[in-house]
Amino acid sequence: MSATYAVIDPATLEPVGEVPLHQPEDVERAIAAARQVARTWAADREARRSALRAAAGAVDAESEELGRILSLEQGKVWAEAVQEFRVAAGLLRHYADLDWDESETLTPRDGRQVQVQYAPVGLVGAITPWNFPISLLAVKLAPALVTGCTVIAKPSPSTPMSTIALVEVLNRFLPADVLQVVTGRGVLSRALSELPGVRKISFTGSTEIGAAIMAQAAPTVKKVTLELGGNDPAIVLPDADLPVTARRIVGSAFRNAGQVCMAVKRVYVPRARSAELTEALVAAASALRVGHGVAEGTTMGPMHTSAQQQLVQDYVTQAVSQGGRIAHGGQSGTSLPGYFLEPTIVADAPQSSDLVACEQFGAALPVVAYDDLDATIDQLNAQEFGLGASVWSPDLDRAHQVASRLEVGTAWVNQHTVVELDAPFGGWKGSGLGRERGRWGLEEYLEPRTVNVRAHAD
Ligand code: NAD
Repeated sequence: MSATYAVIDPATLEPVGEVPLHQPEDVERAIAAARQVARTWAADREARRSALRAAAGAVDAESEELGRILSLEQGKVWAEAVQEFRVAAGLLRHYADLDWDESETLTPRDGRQVQVQYAPVGLVGAITPWNFPISLLAVKLAPALVTGCTVIAKPSPSTPMSTIALVEVLNRFLPADVLQVVTGRGVLSRALSELPGVRKISFTGSTEIGAAIMAQAAPTVKKVTLELGGNDPAIVLPDADLPVTARRIVGSAFRNAGQVCMAVKRVYVPRARSAELTEALVAAASALRVGHGVAEGTTMGPMHTSAQQQLVQDYVTQAVSQGGRIAHGGQSGTSLPGYFLEPTIVADAPQSSDLVACEQFGAALPVVAYDDLDATIDQLNAQEFGLGASVWSPDLDRAHQVASRLEVGTAWVNQHTVVELDAPFGGWKGSGLGRERGRWGLEEYLEPRTVNVRAHAD
């Protein structure tokens, strides 16, 4: 029996399961096994589509039990964990149904016929973070599998059980070794990004590790898709309806205890309306109930790690020492021993504080007063992240104009954290490379081959 390690519930700090502690040799074995099945898997598009549709049905049918595994190891509210599996099923169906040309013929030219074929890129290493272990894996698996790639999934060390469970369900419908999972510590991701048999790394995680993965993958010139960090601003315009705006911002900012790459991480509001918006945000945040993700009535779970909890608390303390004020929260909000922080709203947060300037990735939301909208947009565009941003106003033309100036992968108006199956999602600048979702996500797993034909004798 190979070595295992324990997975911990971040709400109770109790172990919830044991998973294999794989080593780089296990990754090498998985690569060799994937090589054996690659050609047959790539050969039959309709068989792949049927397998994905059938797998989607099973994931949907079992989403409640699967969601419980995810809730216990990750901390999120059970209903949201179930929803992740339903999103995964939706992605499998979307890509099973998406049509794309496997080849195209270019306009004829003097005696030559030029065809462009689109072939699967090959074996994909899918490396995922702990905040959305299932939906972020499915957004890679669905296009990779439907295009005919094989996949080795490597979940975060702290959320491996839900990935193992999803892969088990999918493998009832896939040929053996088309989809494999390896679990263990950080060194395992290195094996995936360094070993030559892997053709592409699709990574979601922090900007720092994404850059490290890109460097690890460079000597073997692997293709990479990187979905990285964000520090999304919500930009409230002077005419916004504040109670509506506050409710929707709170819905985004504290989802999954604020551990969402594309959540509202800071709010910019005209100075004259700052106090009024803060009050509305506090009213909306007061409705959240902190607790164990699987307990009845919980609407916000713990943060996922003690390091994350400490980081966010340090940022809040620093922002207060620099002139900010805790308008709501600041305590754990429960008697459970896990990594809890109540939804915390920091009013009058200074621009220069880490809570505003860095990706805090937790249950804290700074409110920043602005005097000049143009200067604020310029300042935001000059920053490292470019994942998402939102603009809030009943004047849709004006909001659209502002949204169109933002250097981000997704600009929302009067909403935030909403993604579409058929629209590209990804980041500008330090927030990523490449796109997921829709046909853009599919193209990441295809390699063009130009076949240029001339008659044998002419
Ligand atoms: P992380 O970068 O620490 O880890 C992500 C994955 O990389 C994990 O599987 C981890 O085991 C692996 N890894 C860690 N160190 C490694 C190394 N040195 N070499 C190779 N692999 C390594 O991210 P996290 O803490 O799990 O997740 C939070 C981060 O993910 C946040 O920054 C968040 O913004 C980002 N994120 C981005 C998106 C997006 O779509 N843009 C979505 C979700 C999360």
